[in-house]
Amino acid sequence: MIPYGRQSISDRDIQAVVEVLKSDYLTQGPAVPQFEHAIAQYCGVKYAVAVNSATSALHIACLALGVTKGDIVWTSPITFVASANCALYCGAEVDFVDIDPNTYNISVIQLKNKLELAEKAGKLPKVVIPVHLAGQSCDMEAIQALANQYGFKIIEDASHAIGAKYNNQPIGSCKFSDITIFSFHPVKIITTGEGGMALTNNAEIADHMQLLRSHGITRDTKKMTQQPDGSWYYQQIGLGFNYRMTDIQAALGLSQFNRLDAFVAQRHSIVESYQLQLSEKVVIKPWQHPDTYSAYHLYIVQLKLESLQTSHQQAFEHLRASGIGVNLHYIPIYKQPYYQVLGYRESDFPNAEQYYARAISLPIHPDLTPEQQEKVIQIINDFK
Ligand SMILES: *Cc1c(COP(=O)(O)O)cnc(C)c1O
Repeated sequence: MIPYGRQSISDRDIQAVVEVLKSDYLTQGPAVPQFEHAIAQYCGVKYAVAVNSATSALHIACLALGVTKGDIVWTSPITFVASANCALYCGAEVDFVDIDPNTYNISVIQLKNKLELAEKAGKLPKVVIPVHLAGQSCDMEAIQALANQYGFKIIEDASHAIGAKYNNQPIGSCKFSDITIFSFHPVKIITTGEGGMALTNNAEIADHMQLLRSHGITRDTKKMTQQPDGSWYYQQIGLGFNYRMTDIQAALGLSQFNRLDAFVAQRHSIVESYQLQLSEKVVIKPWQHPDTYSAYHLYIVQLKLESLQTSHQQAFEHLRASGIGVNLHYIPIYKQPYYQVLGYRESDFPNAEQYYARAISLPIHPDLTPEQQEKVIQIINDFK
């Protein structure tokens, strides 16, 4: 099966991990701060907090912004469930904003309309989580303007978008948000096996997230309520978790990071072939806003079902049966049984519904060979 995405591991990556295994620290050693520093510098952001997954990063990001019971968090319905679950972990409510039919990202028009209604109803969100689907940035300038007008905070879910740019700024700069989070799951742009990171320019938020990732424990005497009893002393000053990244993971991440720009360039060249060769009779190709440079975590097409002899499901099954590991990103979150009981109406999200009825993610990853890609293109074009 040709997978839709997978990691690319070099001998240097393996060597980097082996070196940590032979060193004094498997966790809480030097590799994690080195990895944080490298990513922060690349993104042009002040603080980076590495954690054991993007899901953990989203959770501590919500907590650091004060999300709690009685609060409301909005995100896109076309994302992985983690973008919404983080709010539920904090006891908050979740609602969704329909997508833009061209970018498949959260629609700024829908967001504006929904905010106007929410203000009247006294139900404004505390946090909005735009998701840079497939690696293409959301319209962050417009979302930030709305945040200033309506007083909500922004967490960018950039799980797909490390290495991408918006207005020539690296994603992760937090120029348009309070916090940005990355995922280092193996299907993402660079990997640590499991892993994530939360970035911010706000020292207080960074401190808070650092506490939350490790039990709420501090060794910083300035933060303690009394003088230390001795050099063994630490204090728990909040309730946190064990969300730490290991040095094994961080060493892999650092080594992968050296190839980040090359990975993204390889993804762009795969996209170029798809854009050139896929038949417009069969698919709608992904549209790119001129202000964005995508990391192309995903290559999502929509089938032009009106003019094809196949259904969405038949096309999908045919591709899988032909050895193409296509996928669908994503089932709208409000359709999940866990969310359905919370009372969302499908009719509120016509663009997400339309998208879900036609979308297919085609294989894209650095080690995809031209022959494999040819095969994918041929099978797709044969649907006409
Ligand atoms: C992968 C992903 C996550 C979760 O990442 P993990 O590191 O697996 O926890 C969250 N949001 C989006 C959009 C993702 O694609």
